[in-house]
Parts: sequence; structure tokens; C-alpha cells
Amino acid sequence: MIIAIDGPAGSGKSSTARRIARRLDGFYLDTGAMYRAVGVALKDSEYGPDAVEKMVNDLILDVELDAAGTRILVNGADVTEIIRSSEASKLASSVSKLQAVRSKLVSEQRRLGRKLSEAGRFVVVEGRDIGTVVFPDAEVKFFMDADPRVRAQRRHREMEEAGADSDLAQVLSEIEARDKEDREREHSPLRKADDAIAVDTTRLTPEEQVDIMVGVIAETIQRSEND
Ligand code: C5P
Repeated sequence: MIIAIDGPAGSGKSSTARRIARRLDGFYLDTGAMYRAVGVALKDSEYGPDAVEKMVNDLILDVELDAAGTRILVNGADVTEIIRSSEASKLASSVSKLQAVRSKLVSEQRRLGRKLSEAGRFVVVEGRDIGTVVFPDAEVKFFMDADPRVRAQRRHREMEEAGADSDLAQVLSEIEARDKEDREREHSPLRKADDAIAVDTTRLTPEEQVDIMVGVIAETIQRSEND
């Protein structure tokens, strides 16, 4: 079963997706990590912006999944930790506008998701276009959102807990700028699929979010077994 989770930055997608994957003894695919890895690779590469298509095709991306998350290697180097920086967020948002990047990553996401779901496993896939483009036939789709100020506070707290310098006002303006770019881009903009279930996490704890979503998944399984 494929469970698609989309939504803007800081809406609670990653932590919820990871917890759901653990509860279901399944896998968690963080597609944002793939865009981040390409963004960082592109920045450090010898190719200029015009040669991006060649660079993307030459890139060797290894994506390793388990319930805890997504480990990413670019040309053999593990970039899982370095792609969490706010610079990597901006680089990801800018390369994610390019169709050459999206095609390569979407086909890899489909390959990984299908391989595991055909083997009878649960795969929780999280991103911006999962329910609309990558897996439009996903059995369950969620669209998570929250008040931008609450999303900024969550990011700010995460960065402080990780020991990084963080300024709340700056985090808020970066989140708003990234959302605007993600919603307004030409290819696969961030939007709720018509059949996705909206989950507003503004006033929910992570446990409450997971309980609601696992409940919906259980109902879907029950319904398909009764059919
Ligand atoms: O989810 P995360 O914040 O790691 O995503 C980083 C960026 O990658 C997003 O702001 C978005 O521009 C891009 N992205 C995307 N499509 C996805 C996942 C992420 O365009 N499926």
C-alpha cells in the first residue's frame, strides 16, 4: 500500500510520515531529501546552470529506505546529514522547478515505491506532488497544513534543538518564500489532490496527527477487505 503525504514546509509531514511507517512496520520515502541532494550536488558541481540536464543525467543517486528515514548517497558520498541545512532547502526549491530534475526523481520515486508495495509492504511517501503526480493512484492520500507561524516555530525549535543558530522571523520569511515558490512553479506545483484528506496540524500534537492518520489507513484497509 502506498500512503501519500503532501504539504508545505513545517506542516509536520516528515515526523508524521516516519512515525506512521514505524507503526505499520513499513518504509518511509522522503522525496524532499532527493531534491535537497540534487540541489547540493548541483551547487558543488562543475556544471553551470545551463548544463543542468547533463549533470542530472550523470548523477548517481542511491536512495536507501527503512522506517526511520531516507539515506541518500550522491556519486557514492553520503549527504544525508548535510542536506538538512537551510541553504540546502533553498537549493532544493530552486532545482525542483526544473523539469529535467523532476523527471529523473519522479521515476526513481515510482520505482522505489512500486518495488516495495508490490512486495506487500507499506510505503509512506512524503513530498509536494506525491498524491497529484508521483502516485495519483495511492490508496490513501493526506494533505497536511498548519498556520505559517506555527510551522515557523516548529522549524525554529528543531534548529535550536540541533544546536544551530536560528532566528524565528527569518525562518518565517524563508518558509513563506519557499511555499510561494513551491505553489506557483510551473511543473508539479504544491497543491492538494482532490481526493486527499486535509489534516490541519496547527493545534495537533505529533501523536494526535499520527493517531488520526493511522485511523484513516486502518479504515481504508478494512473497506478494501470488505469489498
Ligand atoms: O520537504 P523538504 O522541505 O525537504 O523539501 C525541500 C524542497 O524540495 C521543497 O521546498 C520543494 O521545493 C522540493 N520538493 C518538491 N517535490 C517533492 C518534495 C520536495 O518539489 N516531492
